[in-house]
Amino acid sequence: MVKKTEILRINSSNFNESIRKAAEILKNGRTVAFPTETVYGLGANALEPDSVYKIFRAKGRPPDNPLIVHIASKEQVMELSENIPDDAFVLMDAFWPGPLTLILKRKKIVPDVTTGGLDTVAIRMPGNRIALELIKEAGIPIAAPSANISGKPSPTTADHVISDLYDKIDAVVDGGPVDIGIESTVVDMTSEKPLILRPGGVGIEDLKIYMPELEIGYSKEKMVGKKVKSPGMKYIHYSPSAKVVLVEGFNGISDTINQIISDYRKKGLKVGLLATNDTADYITEKGLDTFLLGNRDDIKKIASNVFRGLRTLDDSDLDIIIVDGSIEYDGVGSAVINRLQKAANEIIILEKGENIET
Ligand code: AMP
Ligand code: MG
Repeated sequence: MVKKTEILRINSSNFNESIRKAAEILKNGRTVAFPTETVYGLGANALEPDSVYKIFRAKGRPPDNPLIVHIASKEQVMELSENIPDDAFVLMDAFWPGPLTLILKRKKIVPDVTTGGLDTVAIRMPGNRIALELIKEAGIPIAAPSANISGKPSPTTADHVISDLYDKIDAVVDGGPVDIGIESTVVDMTSEKPLILRPGGVGIEDLKIYMPELEIGYSKEKMVGKKVKSPGMKYIHYSPSAKVVLVEGFNGISDTINQIISDYRKKGLKVGLLATNDTADYITEKGLDTFLLGNRDDIKKIASNVFRGLRTLDDSDLDIIIVDGSIEYDGVGSAVINRLQKAANEIIILEKGENIET
């Protein structure tokens, strides 16, 4: 049982020493949260079942939801997986280090607990200096899901990690806020045609430049209770305690949101708003707890603010969070919409004029 979480705050003078300390903890079979370019991860030795169990225990993660194994060199891919298709090397060369996870056939060295019992393994080389140096120094592949309590929004700062997992993990490396703010794109290289299982930091158009035959393997619908290829996709995710209502689309978005807020307020409920600056300019309801995501034309900024916004609003003890989904699907936009859909209890789609109650 962990008693106290050690916080290692990185600065220019203690970088090497902090990395050494954190690597030592990982080599001793214990857990360390650290920044990657996507979100903060909770790491442990991917090849040691007892170490990997500690991740599941700390997060309360369902055991059939496999972990992504993080590596610092392409040689490590060969240690972990076999029958690697040529296309996978093309993607590694194009996007690693970076926010792309590849599903490959596993070698026996990777334990069941890491893969959720699957005969495949998810592998990624993160594009963050702290993460890469830590993995190199530890000299082992590091299993690392997002460092949050299972089901909660992913952490984009060390403070988010501390608020969810303090005293449940051995250490946190604080390297400041992450760069991208949304998890990696997951591509299954073991199916007949490469399949995107989860949209993420690498845009689908960018992947298609290298792999035009790429197919989409995730659904816009909520996946709860359905049989899906990427086990993590069936769980409730990224969810604040407040009820989340997502309004998707562009036509009449501000009017619709004004109306919804007013209706909930008439019922005496405390309402907050997560919105693009563009939509927020036309919100007439006064005195709302509002978190601004950024301008619609700056999708990278919006991506970096999504989880922070959900967490910040949830700290205000709201009954309802209304989310403005007037976001284009380009680049990381499809990942932003995907995460908001998963966080939502109710989705209203404007263009088609139909409501999806979930
Ligand atoms: P997280 O680490 O929380 O960002 O989640 C990792 C995602 O990758 C989840 O959606 C997992 O289900 C998915 N994943 C990990 N390993 C595999 C695998 N072997 N096959 C399919 N999906 C996987
Ligand atoms: Mg996660």
